[in-house]
Amino acid sequence: MSQQTQAKTFEVEEIRKDFPILKRKVNGYPLVYLDNAATGQTPKQVMDAIVDYYSNYNANIHRGVHALSQEATDKYEQARIKIQKHFNAEKAHEIIFTSGTTHGINLVANGFSSILKEGDEILVSAMEHHSNIVPWQMLCEKTGAKLKVIPMDLKGELVISKFEELLNSKTRLVFLNHVSNALGTVNPIKTIIDKAHSVDAAVLIDGAQAAPHIKADVQELDVDFYVVSGHKMCGPTGVGVLYGKEEWLEKLPPYQGGGEMIATVSFEKTTYAGLPHKFEAGTPNICGGIAFGAAIDYMNKIGFTEIAAYEQELLEYATKKLKEIDGMKIYGEAAEKTAVISFNIDGLHPYDLGTLMDKMGIAVRTGHHCAQPIMDFYKIPGTVRASFSFYNTFNEIDLFIEGVKKAKMMLQ
Ligand SMILES: *Cc1c(COP(=O)(O)O)cnc(C)c1O
Repeated sequence: MSQQTQAKTFEVEEIRKDFPILKRKVNGYPLVYLDNAATGQTPKQVMDAIVDYYSNYNANIHRGVHALSQEATDKYEQARIKIQKHFNAEKAHEIIFTSGTTHGINLVANGFSSILKEGDEILVSAMEHHSNIVPWQMLCEKTGAKLKVIPMDLKGELVISKFEELLNSKTRLVFLNHVSNALGTVNPIKTIIDKAHSVDAAVLIDGAQAAPHIKADVQELDVDFYVVSGHKMCGPTGVGVLYGKEEWLEKLPPYQGGGEMIATVSFEKTTYAGLPHKFEAGTPNICGGIAFGAAIDYMNKIGFTEIAAYEQELLEYATKKLKEIDGMKIYGEAAEKTAVISFNIDGLHPYDLGTLMDKMGIAVRTGHHCAQPIMDFYKIPGTVRASFSFYNTFNEIDLFIEGVKKAKMMLQ
């Protein structure tokens, strides 16, 4: 399919009208936003949900007898059900609202501190975001459990045979990302989950980077925990969800104490509320949860199959064009990847490249992308990372390629 017909079928220009920010200029140039792996832009349908909430039914949820509180509660719980359906969770109370992926991981890691013992082992992949490394290191310090690393190869794929060697009867937990934010690698999580379950280890998948591109089916995956952030999938910042299998969520102790999470409180003894409230202490991000629901609706209306197919075309086109540039080195060439390209140009610092591109209105990210172990693996300080979304165009990729070439010329 040619670029034009693909773009037409996908109606990217129509989609772009939903994103007011894409019309703005940066440093006198039209914004080319290629930092979608860090945060995605927000369509007006989601902004409308936010304005509607604050204009019409802003109130604290649960236990309120007045109309506004009931409306807010209904909308919030409807959002939970939308998210449940989206990820095909069996039960709505298996969906816990969080402030984002980092919060979800910390909630689970904290819970496991009462389950793990000295000598237990937990496995992490070599290509994790810091938020899926540090909480587990803290857990190991507390419990005496050992952290072991599933290695990766130069293409940016996990070495599954090594994972099999590391797996044993002491393995209690395996955690890794579905998609690497630094490399775009889509990990074979179904294989990993099945193998981990064969030794009765639980699996947590960090879905933050996968969720904007791949619709995960948690029952089909048979995953124990799956965490995402709203802001990477057209929602606002400060909201996310943790999916947990009911049996696991029942087993884990509460993370924070406070209002909402109790059944009864007295100074002698407090009993905890049932799921999901046990993990939702305090007033939640009510508007954020509702807006997250609106974001899921928005993306599903476009369609995840369509989104993935279009983004793959952008990825292939951009990769091919980038490779024509002298001295170009792309990190992460897994057979299966999302539309993320991490690269460097011989002799140039990624920070300098990124800064010059910003002067041309092109937003890319530079640095270690919260994944220092990956940078250490490649023995580099960082990369330039361009990450595409379904609202990016082939024209923007051309501007990006021109920008890279211009910046390179100015620096050499
Ligand atoms: C963005 C990201 C995170 C962190 O998400 P927050 O929203 O900052 O909590 C974790 N893991 C991956 C793979 C990510 O891309």
